[in-house]
Amino acid sequence: MYTYRAPLRDIRFVVQELLHIEDHYRGFGREELNQELLEGILEEGAKFAETVLAPTNRAGDEHGLRFEDGKVFTPPGFKEAYDRYCQDGWITMTADPEWGGQGLPAGFALAFGEMQCSGNMAWKMYSGLTESAGLTLAAHGSDELKRRYLPKMVSGEWSGTMCLTEANSGTDLGLLRTRAVPRGDGSFAITGTKIYITAGEHDLTSNIVHLVLARTPDGPPGTKGISLFVVPKFLPDADGNAGPANGVSCGSIEEKMGIHASPTCVLHFNESVGWLVGKENEGLSCMFTMMNHARLGVGLQGQGLSELAWQASLAYATDRLQGRSLTGPKQPDKPADPIIVHPDVRRMLLTQKAFVEGGRVLAFLTGREIDGSHMNPDPEARKRSDHLVAFLTPIVKAFLTDVAVEVTSLAVQVHGGAGFIRETGVEQLMRDARITPIYEGTNGIQALDLLGRKVFGTRGKSQQMMVGRIRETIAEFKDVQEVAELSAELGRRLEQWDKLTLELGMAAMKNPDEAGAAATDYLQFAGYVCLAWCWLASAGEAAKRLAAGVDDPDFYKAKLVTARFYFDRLLPRVDAHASAARAGAAGLMDLPAEHFSFS
Ligand SMILES: Cc1cc2nc3c(=O)[nH]c(=O)nc-3n(C[C@H](O)[C@H](O)[C@H](O)COP(=O)(O)OP(=O)(O)OC[C@H]3O[C@@H](n4cnc5c(N)ncnc54)[C@H](O)[C@@H]3O)c2cc1C
Repeated sequence: MYTYRAPLRDIRFVVQELLHIEDHYRGFGREELNQELLEGILEEGAKFAETVLAPTNRAGDEHGLRFEDGKVFTPPGFKEAYDRYCQDGWITMTADPEWGGQGLPAGFALAFGEMQCSGNMAWKMYSGLTESAGLTLAAHGSDELKRRYLPKMVSGEWSGTMCLTEANSGTDLGLLRTRAVPRGDGSFAITGTKIYITAGEHDLTSNIVHLVLARTPDGPPGTKGISLFVVPKFLPDADGNAGPANGVSCGSIEEKMGIHASPTCVLHFNESVGWLVGKENEGLSCMFTMMNHARLGVGLQGQGLSELAWQASLAYATDRLQGRSLTGPKQPDKPADPIIVHPDVRRMLLTQKAFVEGGRVLAFLTGREIDGSHMNPDPEARKRSDHLVAFLTPIVKAFLTDVAVEVTSLAVQVHGGAGFIRETGVEQLMRDARITPIYEGTNGIQALDLLGRKVFGTRGKSQQMMVGRIRETIAEFKDVQEVAELSAELGRRLEQWDKLTLELGMAAMKNPDEAGAAATDYLQFAGYVCLAWCWLASAGEAAKRLAAGVDDPDFYKAKLVTARFYFDRLLPRVDAHASAARAGAAGLMDLPAEHFSFS
C-alpha cells in the first residue's frame, strides 16, 4: 500500500520559479500575497492532506456510505476531517471577506486543491461543490439571498450542491422537467426529481443548500426556459439557523464503480420553497459560473489522482525485484534487479511523470490567469486572461482527466498482478479516476465546446491568441541552447495546429457534422500542444537555473530529461489525432444506425 507525500518540491518549482506567483500578485497591488504566506499554505496544507485526509481514503472506498431512512452517513473519519477543515479555516480560504472568507485568489489555493484531491478525492467533493455553489450565489444572487446563505456556506456550517441532471435530461438540459411555480410572495414551489446529485444528502453539515435548475410556468421550451433557484434542505428561521424541513428528500444513493465515499443521490423536491437566483429564464448562464469553476475543479481531481498513482508506481518499481537489467545486473547482491531498470517500466513511469508534472503547470497556470482576469488593473490584460481561461477550461477539464485515466491505468500495469489486487490500493485510483471524464459535462461535450464555441465561435481568434501566447514562451527561451530543439519542434506543431484549425473550419462550414466528428481529436491535439508548451517553459527555466548554479542540480536535470521524453514519445501522438480529425464525418456517418451490427 502506497503512502501519499505532497510533492512540495515540484509544486514550489511551478508556483514560485516558473509562474512567479508572488510577483504576479504584487503587480496587482496585493503585497500581502507573498512568499511567506504561500509557504505557510503549502507546508500546512501538505500536513493536512497527508495526515488528515490520506488516512481516510482507503476506508472511504472500502466502507462506503450508509443509507438509512432517507439519511446518508459518511464513512469513518470523514466528519472529523471536515470539521477540522472548517475549524482550521481552510474552507474560508478563497471566499469573499464580505461573507467571512479570507479573499485569497484561486491561484494561491490550487496547489492545496491538488493535494486534497490526492489525499481523498471523494472527500474533497463535499467542500468543492460548496465553494462552487457559494461563488454562483455571490455572482448572481440577490443581496437578501447572499446575506441569508453565504456566511453559513463560507464557514462550512452549510454545504452546497448543483442540481441539474434528471432521468431524461443529462447532457441535454433543455429537456428538464422540474417545475417552479410562483407562490405569490416572491418565492417558488419547486417540484421534480433530480438524479446523480453529489452530496445531495449527508451528515457533515446541519443544512444543505441546493442550487436547482427548474422551469417556470411561462418559460419557453428548451434551454431558454430554465431558471436557477436556491432551495435549502431546511428553511432558515428568523435567526438564520436551519429551521423546518423544506420537502427535499433523498430517495436513494447509487452503487458506483468508484468514489464510494461520495453520495450520488436521487433527490425529490416536493413543493419545496425556492428563491430565484439571477433573472427568470437565465438559469443556465448563471449555472455556468458554477460549472466553469467546477470544471477546473474536476481537472484538478484528475491531476491529484495522477500524482498519487505516479507516486505509488514509482515506489513499487523501486522496490519490486524481477529479472535482470538487459545491460547486466544493477544489484548483484540481490536475487534480481528492481523493475525500474527495465526500459518498458521506465516508459510507463516517465509517461506518468511527464503527464503529472506538465499537467500541474497547465492547471496552475490556468488558475493564475483566472485571477488575472478579474484582478489585473489593466482592462486589456484582464480581457486577454479571460479569453485564455475560456480557451483552456475545456482542455484542463478533458485533457487532464483523460490523462488521469491513462496514468492510473499505467499504475495498475506497473504493479503487475498486484495492481489488480485490492491490497495495493491502485485499482481504487483507476476506478475513482473513471468518473472524471464523465461528469461536469462529458469530455465529448468539452471537445465540442472547444472546437465549436471557443474556436469556430470566435472565427479562430481564440486559437490564434493561444498560439500567440505559446510563441511568447518560445521567444522567452530563444537564447537557451539546451531547449532550442524543443522550441523548434513546438514551433512546427503550432504551424500544424493553425493548418488543422483552418481546414476543419472550412469543412465545418459545408457540413456541421464535421465539427462533431473532429472535436475529440482536436481537443487532444490542443491538449498535447499545450502540455508541450508547459514542458518547454519548465525545461527552459531549469536550463537557466542550472547555468546560474543551483543547490539541487539533479532536480533541474530531471526536468530537461523529462521534457525530452515528452517531446520524443508523447507529443508525436498529435500526428494520429490530426489524421483522425481530418478523416472527416463521412466515415462516421455513412453507416446507417441499423447496420452497426448484424445478428
Ligand atoms: C458520480 C456522479 C456524480 C454526478 N454529480 C452530479 C451533480 O452533482 N449534479 C448534477 O446535476 N449532475 C451530476 N452528475 C451527472 C453528470 O453530470 C451526467 O452524468 C453527465 O453530464 C452526462 O449526462 P448523462 O449521464 O445523462 O449522459 P448522456 O447525456 O445520456 O450522454 C451519453 C453519451 O452521449 C454523449 N452525448 C450526449 N449528447 C451529446 C451531444 N449533443 N453531442 C455529442 N455527444 C453527446 C455523451 O458525451 C456521452 O458519451 C453526476 C454523475 C455521476 C455519475
